[in-house]
Amino acid sequence: MTKKKIALISLVCLITVIFTGCGAGGDGMKNNGKIELEKLEGMPEDFITGADVSSYISIIESGAKYYDEEGNELDDAGFFKLLYDGGMNYCRIRVWNDPKDENGHTYGGGNCDINNAVRLGKLATDAGMKVLIDFHYSDFWADPGKQTEPKAWKGMTTEERADALYEFTRDSLNTLLDEGVDVCMVQVGNETTNGICGAKDSYKNMTDLMSAGSRAVREISSERDKEILVALHYTDPQHNEYAKYADYLDRYGVDYDVFASSYYPYWHGTLSNLTRQLKDIAEKYDKKVMVAETSYIYTLKDHDGTGNTENPDKTGDVFDYDISPQGQADLIRAVAKAVLDTGENGIGMFWWEPAWIPVNYYDEASSDAAAVYEKNARIWEEKGSGWATKYAIGYDKDADAYGGSAVDNEAWFDGHGHALPSVNAYRYLRTGASLGKGIERYASEEKPSSPEVKLSLPDGVENLLLNPGFETDDGWVIINIRGNACEIKADKDNVRTDKKCLKFWDDNDFEFTAEQHVKINGGSHFTFGGFFEGGDCGDTAEIKIGISADGGETFTEATTKDAGWKQWQNPEIADFLADNNADGEREIIVKITVKAKAGGWGAWDDMYLYESEGK
Ligand code: CA
Repeated sequence: MTKKKIALISLVCLITVIFTGCGAGGDGMKNNGKIELEKLEGMPEDFITGADVSSYISIIESGAKYYDEEGNELDDAGFFKLLYDGGMNYCRIRVWNDPKDENGHTYGGGNCDINNAVRLGKLATDAGMKVLIDFHYSDFWADPGKQTEPKAWKGMTTEERADALYEFTRDSLNTLLDEGVDVCMVQVGNETTNGICGAKDSYKNMTDLMSAGSRAVREISSERDKEILVALHYTDPQHNEYAKYADYLDRYGVDYDVFASSYYPYWHGTLSNLTRQLKDIAEKYDKKVMVAETSYIYTLKDHDGTGNTENPDKTGDVFDYDISPQGQADLIRAVAKAVLDTGENGIGMFWWEPAWIPVNYYDEASSDAAAVYEKNARIWEEKGSGWATKYAIGYDKDADAYGGSAVDNEAWFDGHGHALPSVNAYRYLRTGASLGKGIERYASEEKPSSPEVKLSLPDGVENLLLNPGFETDDGWVIINIRGNACEIKADKDNVRTDKKCLKFWDDNDFEFTAEQHVKINGGSHFTFGGFFEGGDCGDTAEIKIGISADGGETFTEATTKDAGWKQWQNPEIADFLADNNADGEREIIVKITVKAKAGGWGAWDDMYLYESEGK
């Protein structure tokens, strides 16, 4: 469920920046720098260095063009040869069942029906690549936030839907293979973290659908005597423990080969955590593992008029690499190494949508910006080359913010369609690449600066807590803990300030109290508060702070709610009167209490206690 909120965060960005554009405007000027990359030792010959170019045909049909690094225009074969020569050996293609409305208007997103997959798959196969077919089992985008069944399957029982899914998988694969597409892997569902094809909340229903898809692939593989791997796809290793999913897949007997994860560096935590999670599954269940989607930005500028998910105003996201083609290459190397580090079962990685470029180049600073946007918007609606058209409203819950691409700054081509040096990063993994004599490294754009958050208390007051921001192990005692939910830890994605926070998560129901005893002056008023972010704690969650004095006789508390990731709530108890009748040194106890359902997560940071005036 966590990823759902993360996904929504990106969708919110997508929604809010439409029409505004972002950044200082792009000029598309060639940067004279080059990129360098250290060879990745130990990478097997057949390590998958793939990419998802599902939107390519819609972009071409919209009139956009692709060019190589020298500026030569590329035809279809030339485009795929460029990618292949750059080291891409596997092409991932998404398939939606029926991505159009009842009048035949496209939902957009590249019009990714089976016919599109055949055309793309043939181009990829002809270029020498293998093909991964990514069935969403939906008429449009499926991800942790939505797994809407196809219109034609509405109202079916799970059993009927499993049959339909099985037939659709069989028919689609037969069509692709008959057309000569070299399908070597099939994804049964896309980012199925919270469900698949309308099924959620029931492992039995979800796994029945997955098993139906897997069975279809196994049969085709056997009938055609062709090895085709079955992959399942989950996401957000930062907020989900994958062991939970691998365990239910095992318990319900789902027959699969590859456990795949998305990894978006802005949101998904460290690569060492990804490696740990995938390695555990590879070893415990003897599965292959891979990264099914990753990407990184080469610029913060928007070049099509639909604001990008990662943009100059983005705060809170992690930008650990240069913002340049060099940064893209560095990310590729880091992800490939993280997969290799899982052991022999680590089979590879895919970049997501390196070819989703603008239809017409848009520069918000240019006098023709409005006209270019109008032109693009018309083409997106007609050709389906934006992320969604207005015709998807009603089917897709986010489509009221229809428009162009929110990821054109994550492509391997610039805003005019010219190949960036990152198009060769996969090759450089195998060969290494160094800068020539006197040649500069491709310069990074300045990274978005997150406004510095500080704990600000009223003027002149002193924070009476020891270790208020959990930067050390001092002061706080954790009591009444059930489960292993809670610890003080460094977690840059969940701190409010500095490096550490009081972080919690468990896959069983859990509770804990963290408390601190503080010496105070009797007869005074005190204000106690702090900051909390979290989610998925359940309807019956209790998340609160408390303060007690006089041996527990006076007590008050303030509750808060799990509003989401980085949505910092600020529960506060103001002007608590401690030991009204006493003078001299006394003791009060401040506490944080959390009681949550399995899967609940969150963090506390920046607690404060100060002597206040009283009302
Ligand atoms: Ca854009």
